[in-house]
Amino acid sequence: MHHDGVYANYIAAEWCRGNGVTENRNPSDTDDVVGRYAQASTDDVERAIGAAEAAFPTWSTGGIQARSEALEQIGAEILSRKDELAHLLAREEGKTLAEAHGEVLRAAHIFKFFAGECVRQSGELLPSVRSGVSVEITREPLGVIGIITPWNFPLAIPAWKIAPALAYGNCVVFKPADLVPASAWALAEIISRAGLPTGVFNLVMGRGSVVGDALVNHPAVAAITFTGSVPVGQRIGAACAAAGKKVQLEMGGKNPQVVLDDANLEQAVELCAQSAFYQAGQRCTASSRIIVTGGIYGAFVDALAARLQRIQVGHALAADTDIGPVASAGQLEQNLEYVAIGQAEGATLRCGGERLERGTPGYYMRPALFIDTDNRMRINREEIFGPIATVQRARNYEEALALANDTAFGLSSGIATTSLKYAQHFKRHSQAGMVMVNLPTAGVDYHVPFGGRKGSSYGPREQGRYAQEFFTTVKTAYLAA
Ligand code: NAP
Repeated sequence: MHHDGVYANYIAAEWCRGNGVTENRNPSDTDDVVGRYAQASTDDVERAIGAAEAAFPTWSTGGIQARSEALEQIGAEILSRKDELAHLLAREEGKTLAEAHGEVLRAAHIFKFFAGECVRQSGELLPSVRSGVSVEITREPLGVIGIITPWNFPLAIPAWKIAPALAYGNCVVFKPADLVPASAWALAEIISRAGLPTGVFNLVMGRGSVVGDALVNHPAVAAITFTGSVPVGQRIGAACAAAGKKVQLEMGGKNPQVVLDDANLEQAVELCAQSAFYQAGQRCTASSRIIVTGGIYGAFVDALAARLQRIQVGHALAADTDIGPVASAGQLEQNLEYVAIGQAEGATLRCGGERLERGTPGYYMRPALFIDTDNRMRINREEIFGPIATVQRARNYEEALALANDTAFGLSSGIATTSLKYAQHFKRHSQAGMVMVNLPTAGVDYHVPFGGRKGSSYGPREQGRYAQEFFTTVKTAYLAA
């Protein structure tokens, strides 16, 4: 597991040291070193892919009972160690303990869900249009799956890719984000003790430009599932298309939250505060554009600004913290730059947006609320990925809907209204993969499809039963009696 105090890669059922080290620091207190993590070389990546390839024939045809039990065991261990894992996650990524607990539970539930799905796979048997012939439609695994994940959900996103990959009979080479290897390593260690045959699951840590690139471009990798930013996703998509690989990309968002005159004001303020600012706005489903109709605009802005004053920004592990630091120095710098961009574009900074000092050196900032914004401004068009939200005014529901849809993204969207008519219309006409009525745009169930439209996603949906679209391929077999 460890070599000279370094957490190692896991390749062909062995812990391997690699050729570099990433020092993982706590964003709430940069003097706190969470651990030192190995970086894989391109040779290590080759070996991991080779091991996965060698394991595939047996694993893909082996019993679904063994697969199901392994997934169940992984889910059960995550659950039984939830406090320890939540502490590690909050310490390395900066989300609060409460938020980290939620993520750990979600990861456990995902493994348990796919333990069940694994033994519920089915096909179809049809009569042929030719007499004496029958047609059978089944699903088969793809082979070696490369999994590349971002830093904002270091446990849940790996879980929702690894669990279905294994459940449907694939082998895995997993590359977590270099910023947050600790949760990924803890998950890999749990998986390493679940009784999987050698090579079925491999962990290779390190930089995307080295480890991720080697994974994407290896001919023995059948498919890549990626979550991260738009530019990296687009590059990976192009490389996979050129090589004929299956690819699934979950990328950014600029999610709108509509608030209509007839909304319950208190509820609308609370759900906007939750989905725009909690987890420091670092959720791909965060609502960063709040679109409010004229009759409620003034009261809503005053109430949301007052709500933001009550939010405690602090150390992620402190009991009274509502919002932890942002995840990295680079992310903090980018957020502060967008605050300046918004002001230069003529938006009014109603509150927040400045760096904060706390008892420990960390990447703290006060949540920022821009009002009187315009949908053409960069702060309304580009994903910021921080605790920054904008408010813009709409004349009526129709204009609010048009503004909500006027974006390059389409992950999630929300509407706060007591009108059944507008709720129904918005559900049908919002150009997003996920739509919320009187709920935050962030916060989704683990057993139903997840994904977006337009620039947010490419390829089949993730999670729930729909995960099989990506992790399997369809076979049509004809049989003459
Ligand atoms: P990122 O920079 O795109 O990185 C994502 C992953 O790709 C990391 O593991 C990264 O490695 C790797 N990578 C970087 N360059 C690569 C390359 N050339 N080849 C292969 N892999 C490469 O994104 P991030 O900053 O970690 O995450 C934030 C973004 O994720 C946001 O834009 C957010 O919206 C998006 N996100 C989307 C969803 C969704 O489901 N739609 C969910 C969560 C987050 P290293 O960073 O380790 O070098």
